[in-house]
Amino acid sequence: MAEYLASIYGTEKDKVNCSFYFKIGACRHGDRCSRKHVKPTFSQTLLIANMYKNPVHDAAFHLTESQLQENFDLFYEDVFMELAKFGEVEDMVVCDNVGDHLVGNVYCQYRLEESAGNAVESLNNRFYAGRPLYAELSPVTDFREACCRQHEIAECNRGGFCNFMHLKHPTRTMRRELYEGQRMDIREKRKEETRRDEDERRAKHEPYNDDYKKVKHESYNEDDYRRDRHGSSDRREVKKEYH
Ligand SMILES: [Zn+2]
Ligand SMILES: [Zn+2]
Repeated sequence: MAEYLASIYGTEKDKVNCSFYFKIGACRHGDRCSRKHVKPTFSQTLLIANMYKNPVHDAAFHLTESQLQENFDLFYEDVFMELAKFGEVEDMVVCDNVGDHLVGNVYCQYRLEESAGNAVESLNNRFYAGRPLYAELSPVTDFREACCRQHEIAECNRGGFCNFMHLKHPTRTMRRELYEGQRMDIREKRKEETRRDEDERRAKHEPYNDDYKKVKHESYNEDDYRRDRHGSSDRREVKKEYH
């Protein structure tokens, strides 16, 4: 029996737990749902509800298709850079649905649960574009499972009110650059850490060398410093090329 219950957990067959909340992290019945929404204590996935405001839904909407994409790319980049401060982001998606429970939802999956936990804590005290942020840990583990297949293939007949994710995609090259940039940053940080560890280890093993310190200090005198900062004739020459 226990095995059976585990196998249907969060699926449509599960009469206790809400499959929508489990799979998509949001259900149109919200707190009034007849099935349980079990909030995870730990998760790699973070949800910021209703964060992206698509200008298409604005009364004074006047952007062209390409301006819209640009507007969304800026949003995506901005949020990604902020979320990446808490840890390595594996994937970040934004919903383009229009139903209240999914509109503008941003989901971010981190490599580590700890990063998602820290992000939730910090973001709940923050504002974005003048509105307070609502962040929570989400049970969603697989964005592909949460997405509407019909919408991915062609057009979903439920439109924006569909209860599965309809994603808004950032420009592919921009997205790739963001994730590659993150990878390079992480690699750099690791190298830096290894270097620091090695330095510390060396400092522990080698007796502190006072002479070395003195020599190093004297070799870089104030005149050098001034020349470097203000006046190098070299720099002026380079500049001329731009005029
Ligand atoms: Zn529900
Ligand atoms: Zn759909």
